[in-house]
Amino acid sequence: MTAPDARPSAQSSPRRRSGGFPRARTSRLLAVVGEVLAQTCSLVVPRHCPCGTEGVWLCRSCRALLQSPPLRVESVCDALQELSAARVREEGPRAPAGVDHEPVLPVHALGEYAGPLQCIVLAWKNGGMSHLVRHLAPALVPAVAEIRAAAVPAEDSAAPQPPPVLVPVPSRLSARLRRGEDHVHELVRELEAQGAGRALALPAMPSSAQEGKGARQRRHRRILLLPTPSPGVRGPGRGAAPRPPAVIVDDVVTTGSTLRGMHEALTAAGWEVIGAVVIASARLPVPVGQGRGGTT
Ligand SMILES: [Zn+2]
Repeated sequence: MTAPDARPSAQSSPRRRSGGFPRARTSRLLAVVGEVLAQTCSLVVPRHCPCGTEGVWLCRSCRALLQSPPLRVESVCDALQELSAARVREEGPRAPAGVDHEPVLPVHALGEYAGPLQCIVLAWKNGGMSHLVRHLAPALVPAVAEIRAAAVPAEDSAAPQPPPVLVPVPSRLSARLRRGEDHVHELVRELEAQGAGRALALPAMPSSAQEGKGARQRRHRRILLLPTPSPGVRGPGRGAAPRPPAVIVDDVVTTGSTLRGMHEALTAAGWEVIGAVVIASARLPVPVGQGRGGTT
């Protein structure tokens, strides 16, 4: 099969000898143009993975890192621990005050905020590599699903469950101005696009007014949710359909003070918060046995 000849010309004889010469020439020309464009673009925007590997936007090793199963990290978040008064347990010994504690909510992370994962987060947040959200969100989908599944009572496990709402932590205005966007909102929207739940950006105001408080209180960051009703989401109360459970989304957890502040604000507003997902945690639990660390 030969391509139909192009316009005949005085130089038609060599074309005829080479059969589909015009098409081949066009292909070669396109290839050359494509290569020139790629080289030119690479001069302007060099392709490289956040870890430094050149020639790719995300190298194979970093892709594998994002595909690793999420870890439970709430046990190493100091601000998430609920220190208890003295307890008397039916099934166990008495726990003295201040010794026993339980995390406020489960927190799942993709890994430690160090090495390549830290590079990925920083490149996404501050390095202009916003396209990384298309890799970060799918990596967090299993974590959201795990939190949702764990929150369903055993007797309801067979019934279809509504997807959770995904609530981003509020970013500081200074950070939004510096980056030009709210990257955690972007992450939540991408999570919604991946089918993990429904994005719900509640208007909130972070507060850092913690002067005059004790060390323990300073670990808690207060967050004020502004009373703006969100369309399509009904609040708890008379005749209202039950709200879906909420999952908090953030980029990095350190002490957990922001997650705790968000948890308190959402709970006070009537939401059932079933957990939080973050990309990275400043610390990881020490693995116990062969399992990964975590608190049950
Ligand atoms: Zn890499």
